[in-house]
Amino acid sequence: MFRFCVVLFFAESLIAQELDWPVEKDKKFQISSTFGESRMDHFHNGIDLPGEGFPVLSPADARVLYCHHDSEVPGEMPFGGGTTVVLDHGKLWTGYMHLAETTACNNEGQLLARGEKFASAGNSGHSGGPHLHFFIYEPAQRTLVNPLLILGQDYYRDKKPPLVKEWGVLLPEKFAMVNPQRPFRLSADYPVYVLIEDQGVARERWGIFEYRVFLDDREVLAARFDRLVFNDGWRLGGKYSFEEIFYRNFYTLTNQVRRARRIRLEARDLAGNSTERSWEPTIQQN
Ligand SMILES: [Zn+2]
Repeated sequence: MFRFCVVLFFAESLIAQELDWPVEKDKKFQISSTFGESRMDHFHNGIDLPGEGFPVLSPADARVLYCHHDSEVPGEMPFGGGTTVVLDHGKLWTGYMHLAETTACNNEGQLLARGEKFASAGNSGHSGGPHLHFFIYEPAQRTLVNPLLILGQDYYRDKKPPLVKEWGVLLPEKFAMVNPQRPFRLSADYPVYVLIEDQGVARERWGIFEYRVFLDDREVLAARFDRLVFNDGWRLGGKYSFEEIFYRNFYTLTNQVRRARRIRLEARDLAGNSTERSWEPTIQQN
C-alpha cells in the first residue's frame, strides 16, 4: 500500500528529454538539499549539489534562454540567485544558480551541445555555502519537477528512514512546542505541526518525499514532493500552497487535533525508506 508508481510515471512522460546530470560523470558527491524542502517561507524548487569550482555541463543540446551575471548588479543586489543561467532544451528548461563564472552570458541565445561546459559552480548571491542550485522546469505545464525523478538518483544515497521529531502548535501569539505524550491544553483548533528530517547515509538532513496524515484512520492530508505547479503561487502537486504544508520548517499535521482520538503519520523518502508514527494525545479543551 505504501508504494507508488510516481517515479515510473515521470520517467515515462519525460524520458524523451534524456537529460544528463549537469556534472562530469566521475564527479562524486551527495546532494545537499532535496526538492520541495522548506526554505522557511517558500518551497526549495530544485536540488543542491555541494562544492565550488566544478564544471557545470549542459544536460542536453540547449539554447541559452536567460543569463544573469552578478557583476552586472553592483553592490548588494536584490537578486538572491547570484549568477544564474536558464537553458531551453525544448520541452524542458533547466536552471543553474549561485554560479562562480559562466560563458553563457557572452552572446544572447547562444547554443550549447550536450555535455558542453558553460559554467563553474560557486557561491554567488544569497548562498549558505558553495553549491550549485539546479532546477528543471516544464514551461507548458508551468511546473517545476523534482530533478531526481528525471535524472535518476546517482547523487542521492539514502539508507535511513525519516526521523519524526517534536510537535509545534501555532497559537495566536506564538509558535509553541508541545509533547504529545503528555496532556496539554488547546482552547481552539490551532494548527499542529511536526518536525520531520530525512537522513541520508551520513549527516544529511533532507526533506522527505511523501507524507500522509490520518485522523482516526481517515486520510486528511497526502503530500508528495514530486512537482510544484504555478497556480496562484507555487503549489505542491498542483494543490498545496507553502503555508498549507509548512510552518517554517515544520510539516503540517492537522488543524483538527481536538476531534481525533488517534493521529497517524506516514512519511517516506525517495529511496522508499519509510517511518510510521501514531499518537493518542490527551487534550484539555478549555
Ligand atoms: Zn537550492
